Amino acid sequence: MESIAQIAYLISAVLFVSGIKKLSSPATARSGNARASLAMLVAIVTVLLDTRILDWTTVVAAVIAGAVVGGVLARTIQMTAMPQLVAVFNGFGGAASAAVAAAEFVRVGGSGTVLGLGDGVTIVLSTLIGAVTFSGSLIAFGKLQGIVTGSPVTFPLQKTLNALLFVGIIVVGASIADAGIGGTVAPLFGATALDIGNPFFVALVVAALVLGVLLVIPIGGADMPVVVSLLNSYSGLAAAATGFVLGNWILIIAGALVGASGLILTQLMCKAMNRSLGNVAFGAFGTEGQTARVKTGERPVRDVDAEQAAMVLAYASSVAVVPGYGLAVAQAQHELKKVCDLLEDRGVTVRFGVHPVAGRMPGHMNVLLAEADVSYDKLLDLDDINAEFDSTDVVLIVGANDVVNPAARDPDSVIAGMPILDVDKARTVIVMKRSLSPGFAGIDNDLFYMENTLMFFGDAKDQMSELVKEVREA
Ligand code: NDP
Repeated sequence: MESIAQIAYLISAVLFVSGIKKLSSPATARSGNARASLAMLVAIVTVLLDTRILDWTTVVAAVIAGAVVGGVLARTIQMTAMPQLVAVFNGFGGAASAAVAAAEFVRVGGSGTVLGLGDGVTIVLSTLIGAVTFSGSLIAFGKLQGIVTGSPVTFPLQKTLNALLFVGIIVVGASIADAGIGGTVAPLFGATALDIGNPFFVALVVAALVLGVLLVIPIGGADMPVVVSLLNSYSGLAAAATGFVLGNWILIIAGALVGASGLILTQLMCKAMNRSLGNVAFGAFGTEGQTARVKTGERPVRDVDAEQAAMVLAYASSVAVVPGYGLAVAQAQHELKKVCDLLEDRGVTVRFGVHPVAGRMPGHMNVLLAEADVSYDKLLDLDDINAEFDSTDVVLIVGANDVVNPAARDPDSVIAGMPILDVDKARTVIVMKRSLSPGFAGIDNDLFYMENTLMFFGDAKDQMSELVKEVREA
């Protein structure tokens, strides 16, 4: 059985790695997801059979409950609520790792054996990272859901408090490992018993939960997707640490994969916003409410109605569509697809320019467009579409703002250096949004006032439905 289990774990590891590889392109992402799910199934079944589970009733009940909750959530969740769903999943992943580590701590204590140094360190790490991930993710969820204020919560000496808490955690963690090897510090505090009431263990859990909250509250609500990606990486590290606790190497591999990919994703998102991780974590930037302070609309704009916009689009030979967060808010992707199909029927070349941080989570636009059956080969990334704008007749921007703001080229702007889609190089630009309000960064957009820009005001779904009718009649 031992060698069969090892082979099954190996198959699972290969499926995990190849599944993640396939996630790098929208064309193969779906099958990558299926492959990684299969890897998880193989791993779970192998663990259950290999460890000769005694109480199957609890296991089966937990699997059914988990599958029902997961299935219903995945089916009913709105695309705009996806970041908070991921936040909750990360949080529960962290909590599960901490719970397994706590159970192992109690089990070793109950068996009367001495906790080895290696076990002590991995149990502490798994509990610490798992608990930080859990409470941090709940705060991220609360901010995204509007339950907790989206504004950065800062107070004097906050970083000092975090640092002190961290030092305290190291001391407490070292004391647990010390108790495990029969050291001298722990018995002074009566902490020799390795049970769940061990004062060092309780202190570790409480301090880690508080640290998770303190690390996330100073970050603005709109920066939460970056934080969620980072917490995702933490949940992987917690799982890997739990793998060491249990001596289960498939958990170590899967956790390390999640940890590394979460970190890479965080870095990519920061790069696409031209911000450092330190700026996201400590910059107290990204409150959606800050947009209200910006003066907009003091300069004249040229606005068009659906009929005029349809004329411009229908008589173009090439159109580039730039989707943004507003497309997700309005859920206008299906209507947008209809407009694109009608234009293509007329012989217009239609492509999509997708900015890496358009929307509020990585891949947000890709998922929306895939939902509407837009073919992947029409999706061009930043560099490819930027090379095409000066030979494009019309750019249709749907609910995007910051990712097309030429202010990024101004070294004094708050978004200075952020890579943008150079839509202003196209012959005509149509911007579909409800008002002149700024986007996430809270700054006015010069694009709206340019000579070649036409503002098409209104909710993206309503306006897109109007466009369908008008393009048909054009
Ligand atoms: P923005 O937030 O810059 O702009 C979205 C625009 O959509 C708004 O200006 C709004 O204007 C418009 N809008 C909202 N609702 C509707 C509607 N129903 N119909 C039509 N328009 C609507 O979005 P972008 O996608 O351009 O940029 C994303 C921003 O988010 C970037 O600054 C990025 O750095 C940031 N970000 C992205 C993350 C990611 O992973 N994708 C993570 C964290 C931050 P109006 O109110 O006038 O309609």
